Amino acid sequence: MVSRIIPVDPFDLTIFGGTGDLARRKILPGLYRRFWAEQMPEDARIIGAARSEMSRKDFQDMVREALLEFVAGAKRDTDRIEAFLDHIHYVAIDAKGEGGWPDLKAMQRDGVVRAFYFSVAPGLFGDLAERLHAHGITDDDSRIVVEKPFGRDLASARTLNATLAEHFDEHQIYRIDHYLGKETVQNLMAVRFGNILFEPLWNAQYVDHIQITVAETVGVGGRGQYYDKSGAMRDMIQNHLMQLLCLIAMEPPHQFDPDAVRDEKLKVIRALDPVDPSDIVRGQYGAAKGTKSYLEDVEDSGSATESFIAMKVHVSNWRWKGTPFYLRTGKRLRGRASEIAIIFKKTPHSIFGEQEEQRGNALVIRLQPNEGMNLRVTIKEPGPGGMRLVEVPLDMSFADALGPEAADIPDAYERLIMDVIRGNQTLFMRGDEVEAAWAWTDPIIDGWEARGDRPKTYEPGSSGPEESAMLLHREGRRWREIRE
Ligand code: NAP
Repeated sequence: MVSRIIPVDPFDLTIFGGTGDLARRKILPGLYRRFWAEQMPEDARIIGAARSEMSRKDFQDMVREALLEFVAGAKRDTDRIEAFLDHIHYVAIDAKGEGGWPDLKAMQRDGVVRAFYFSVAPGLFGDLAERLHAHGITDDDSRIVVEKPFGRDLASARTLNATLAEHFDEHQIYRIDHYLGKETVQNLMAVRFGNILFEPLWNAQYVDHIQITVAETVGVGGRGQYYDKSGAMRDMIQNHLMQLLCLIAMEPPHQFDPDAVRDEKLKVIRALDPVDPSDIVRGQYGAAKGTKSYLEDVEDSGSATESFIAMKVHVSNWRWKGTPFYLRTGKRLRGRASEIAIIFKKTPHSIFGEQEEQRGNALVIRLQPNEGMNLRVTIKEPGPGGMRLVEVPLDMSFADALGPEAADIPDAYERLIMDVIRGNQTLFMRGDEVEAAWAWTDPIIDGWEARGDRPKTYEPGSSGPEESAMLLHREGRRWREIRE
C-alpha cells in the first residue's frame, strides 16, 4: 500500500496541562507517532504549560520518560525520540494567574497555525480562554481544543459554550470526543455512504434493532472520586455512545464537510424520544476476590452513581420509527469490547423447509479490540446432507485486506490533533450538538434523583445486572456476548 501521509502546516501547539496524565499517556505519544510517520513539519513546536516551575530540559526529560512508557514496538526508537524532543518547549503558567503569559506570547510565531490544547480540569477552560485573549496570544485563526467533560448538564454546558464564545468563534473551538477519531468509526461512514449495498437496507423496514456496547474490565480505580460525580450516563452515554448512535442513525450529509455532517447528527439527537424509566437498567459492580466493590472504590457506601447502564432508545423519524437502539456500557465487565451491531430482520419466508433457527444478517463494527468489521451471512453448509443452512462471518481485518501498513492504525488522538492543525472540524462536536445531548440526558438523570433510584449490584466479570438481559429478552432479543 502506498503511504499517503501528507505533512501538515507548521504549527505552535501549546498543551495546557502538559505534565498531566492525558498529555503523558495520549497527547504527547500521539504527536510523537505523527513525527515518526514524518507528518510533522520540521519547525513544528510543542509547548508544554502547567503551574510547575521546571526548565525546558526538565520537561523534555519528562516527555522522554512518557514516550518510553507509552510508545510501543518499532516506534520506540531512542534516536527518533531524541530528535522529537528538539520540538519540545515549556512555559510555567497558572491558568488563574498572570505570570508566564508574556513568555508564552513571546514564543508564538507569525505565519504558523497556533493551537492551544486545554488538557486541564474543565473549571479552568474559561480562565485559559480569557487570558489567552487578554494577553493577545491568539488571533482569528487560532484554535482551542477542549477535553471532556463538556459540562455536567445543560445549564453548565450552556455557560461553558457562552464563556468560550466570548473569546473564540465556533470555527475555532474543537470539542474532543476521541471516539470520533477511531478508525472504525470513520469506516462506519465509509461503509454507509461509500457503498450502495447497505444504505437501501439501513432503515426500520430491514433493521430489527441496533446494539452499541462499550465494555470495560477495569473498575473506577484511582479515578473513583471523579467518576462518582458523573457515572456511566454522563461519562459515556451522553457523549461517546450518543456520537456513535448519531453516525448510525443520521441521514446522508450532502458532502463530507464539518457542518453538513454535524447538522445531520444534531437532527438525530433532536429526534430522540424521552426514555421510559422501565427501559433503563443501572448497575454498580460488587466485590470479588481481590477486587473492591464500586462503593468501596469510591469510598461512599451510600453512592447511587451507576458504573453500568443499559437502555433502550428510540429515534422518532421516518427512517427509524419502531427500531430500538440498545445502548450498554459499564466497568468491571467480562471483557474489554466495544462494538456496534446492526441486526437485520430475518427473511420473510424460508424456502428451505425445516432448519435450525437462523439469527439473520448482522453487520458488526468492532472499535476494540482489533478494529475491524464482520458481516454475518447465511450460506449452505458445505458437503452432502441436503440443503442445510449455516451462519458464517465474513470477517474483514484491515491488515488482511490492505496489507500490514493498514494494521498500523493511528490512535484517535493522533488523528484528531492533526485535524486541528488542518482546521478540519468534522470529527469534533459542535456547541449545539453538545447542548442537545444534555437536553435529552438531563430529564433522565433528574428522574433518578427525584425517585431516589438506586443501581442494582452486579457481579464483577459478568455482563451486568440480570435486568439488562431482560431488557432484550422481554422483546424476544438478546445481547451479543461480551467476549472475555
Ligand atoms: P491531571 O493528570 O490531573 O493533570 C492536570 C494538568 O493540569 C497537570 O499538568 C497540572 O499541572 C495542570 N494544572 C492544574 N492546575 C492548573 C492551573 N491552575 N494552571 C495551569 N495548569 C494547571 O489531569 P488529566 O487526567 O491529564 O486530565 C486533563 C483533562 O483531560 C481533564 O479535563 C480531564 O477530564 C480530561 N480527560 C482526561 C482523560 C485521561 O485519561 N486522563 C481522559 C479524557 C479526558 P500543575 O499541577 O503543574 O499545574
